[in-house]
Amino acid sequence: MSLDSLEKLFLEELKDIYNAEKQLTRALPRMAKAAESAELRQAFTSHLKETQGQIQRLERVFKELGQAVRGKKCKAMEGLIEEGKEMMEEDGEPQVMDAALIGAAQKVEHYEIAAYGCLSTYAELLGYSSSAQLLRQNLQEEEAADKKLNALAEGGINESAAMAGAGQEEEKD
Ligand code: FE
Ligand code: ZN
Ligand code: FE
Ligand code: FE
Repeated sequence: MSLDSLEKLFLEELKDIYNAEKQLTRALPRMAKAAESAELRQAFTSHLKETQGQIQRLERVFKELGQAVRGKKCKAMEGLIEEGKEMMEEDGEPQVMDAALIGAAQKVEHYEIAAYGCLSTYAELLGYSSSAQLLRQNLQEEEAADKKLNALAEGGINESAAMAGAGQEEEKD
């Protein structure tokens, strides 16, 4: 495959994010299960539903382009998920784990935001305005998911994690 046109780059990146989203539908239930905070668990569960909708939008984009629906392994998402998995295998304070889960999830969201930012711009430039709109919808959902995670972190989860650590230090004395 040679990247001799923006059209080809667009299709390659589309296959990448399609596979990345598929990987996420397998990872999000594990993250929900690992979350201690009910709100965080709910955030993962509702983003799983959104992710399934995003996959359907991507399938529409493939169809609009007259291309077969096909992914190509996203090594970046594989790595991000793998790091999250390693972290979940550690034992520790549930509150600290929640802070870690939020951080891992935000890394994923930022990757997706970058991917959909590029994809929607390419689609627009290539004249696929209906596809561009679908991709922008995915972009907006990822941005909202990231903001939601931020709000949860700043709304108490990070503070609880900080207190859990402080408690442990006291015990050592
Ligand atoms: Fe997504
Ligand atoms: Zn990727
Ligand atoms: Fe990638
Ligand atoms: Fe997402």
